[in-house]
Amino acid sequence: MKAFAYVNPANEREAVAALKVDGIAMPIAGGQDLLARMKDYIDSPDRVVNVKGLDATITATPDGGMKIGSAVKIIDLFEHAQVAKLYPAINAAAIEIGTPQIRNQGTVGGNVNQRPRCWYYRNEEFVCYKKGGSRCFAVNGENQYHAIFGNEGPSHIVHPSSLAVPFVAYGARFRVIGPSGEREIAAGDYFTRPTLQNVLKENVLEDEEILTHVILPPPGNVKTGHYEVRYKASHDWPLAFTTVVLLTGPLWGKTIWGAWWTWDARLTSTLFLWFLIVAYSLLRGAVEERGRRARYSAVLGILAALLVPFIHLSVYLFRTLHPMPILLKPSAPSMPSEMQVTFFSAFLAFLLLFAALLRARYRIATLRDHVASREQEHA
Ligand SMILES: Cc1cc2nc3c(=O)[nH]c(=O)nc-3n(C[C@H](O)[C@H](O)[C@H](O)COP(=O)(O)OP(=O)(O)OC[C@H]3O[C@@H](n4cnc5c(N)ncnc54)[C@H](O)[C@@H]3O)c2cc1C
Ligand code: SF4
Repeated sequence: MKAFAYVNPANEREAVAALKVDGIAMPIAGGQDLLARMKDYIDSPDRVVNVKGLDATITATPDGGMKIGSAVKIIDLFEHAQVAKLYPAINAAAIEIGTPQIRNQGTVGGNVNQRPRCWYYRNEEFVCYKKGGSRCFAVNGENQYHAIFGNEGPSHIVHPSSLAVPFVAYGARFRVIGPSGEREIAAGDYFTRPTLQNVLKENVLEDEEILTHVILPPPGNVKTGHYEVRYKASHDWPLAFTTVVLLTGPLWGKTIWGAWWTWDARLTSTLFLWFLIVAYSLLRGAVEERGRRARYSAVLGILAALLVPFIHLSVYLFRTLHPMPILLKPSAPSMPSEMQVTFFSAFLAFLLLFAALLRARYRIATLRDHVASREQEHA
């Protein structure tokens, strides 16, 4: 990463002043996007201005709406009870963003101003329109997650911000401040489609302007909905694979031990793992409230993940019919090297099978989702 100066302004006016510099200056909030771009040499600012110290509060406005400071963290936005009650689509979008780490560090201002996730844009080797070049590599390249309507190009990105969508839908206004003072812009006018003239930007912010607040009007009778497909793809296959292990294991057990089943530590803990995954699946469909559903599922998911190493170690910890490990153990593997080749080939094959099935499952869930929304449109 290129060396840069770091400025820590005390307020928004100082932040705006600090952005005026000979060379390139950029605001930084949680840094989840900007730092990654700097490390990949997509951006090399001379000065980075910290805007995490700007307003990080969420307050009610006199008209019954809400005002969200740009430095509010995504996790705090998600956990705000009044936001969740009045603007459920914002709450639903916030919890879908990235990973817990990103939600704990990323801010509202950084999220709506993040740059495109297009893989050509993120690779310094590809100088496309967005980086001052004269072509879009996505047109004839890998473009399965690019815009298919509402964007005539020349850059075929979709805007990466999950929060931008509900902000526009709820009719939010964005307060920005720059060298010539402050102004408010309707969220729908803040984001721009790429044209040849403005292809380097995704919004109407002028140089040295920063976003300070998102102001939401009272929600009125707006009804919002949200579909989630990703989780479905991740738990189906662990359930299928654990079921296969539990069903095929007794075949070996009957031959070697003379019994289909015995309550030994490894078998019992594997059965327990199976119950946990079943409980996870049931829970996802049973709890309506998103926050609670996510928390309960996370607990079950973590317990299931912790159980895996425990199952492996159970033969050390308990008297069991199972033999000691011959591969993953403190000393060198005692599995013959020819068997290791077979084992690792099979392991790789199953890993690839898992990845392919996961991908297929995700695609089915996405298509089902499309069908459901089409049906809703025509209802
Ligand atoms: C694995 C992964 C998954 C992700 N998934 C999602 C997802 O599902 N949905 C989603 O929306 N995002 C997703 N993201 C992106 C992530 O949410 C954003 O990178 C993050 O929200 C940025 O916030 P930040 O505060 O860290 O921004 P920063 O990195 O600090 O800033 C981002 C950009 O905004 C500018 N900026 C920051 N604050 C201001 C301001 N106040 N005024 C003007 N400009 C400003 C910065 O100059 C920079 O260009 C994902 C990222 C990763 C790595
Ligand atoms: S979609 Fe946009 S960012 Fe991606 S390659 Fe094309 S011009 Fe570049």
